Amino acid sequence: MIDQNALLKQAETARKNAYAPYSGFTVGAALLCRDGTVYTGCNVENASFSPTCCAERVAIFKAISEGRQDLCAIAVVGGKNGDALTPCPPCGVCRQVLSEFCEEDFPVILANGNGDPTVTTLGALLPYRFRISHPSFETENPS
Ligand SMILES: [Zn+2]
Repeated sequence: MIDQNALLKQAETARKNAYAPYSGFTVGAALLCRDGTVYTGCNVENASFSPTCCAERVAIFKAISEGRQDLCAIAVVGGKNGDALTPCPPCGVCRQVLSEFCEEDFPVILANGNGDPTVTTLGALLPYRFRISHPSFETENPS
């Protein structure tokens, strides 16, 4: 059983390190692995905008770079000027990155300001996702 509020609390703690001087939209993410290890991330903006990285991808890349691919759930807290009153779901790019390592039932836990998290799944957030198993990757056997 995933302690959703505990994971959200870790996301909120990570959010405090967000570097978002341009948008003021700070985000924290906490990614849970099977053995209980949690990798956190915050968004990191850049004056050139394009190199900006989301909190979710920071957390995912931290986990992958540590040799972890047994991802169980992610919690996300975010909003403008410190608010966390409405769910802050992962952007499309982060959904695609999650899709590389997670199945459709992967839980995405979102703070909504009332202490009762909004919980959805990667499959709900990214239907018809693009994966290496996509038919376009299947090669024909020439024999
Ligand atoms: Zn993102």
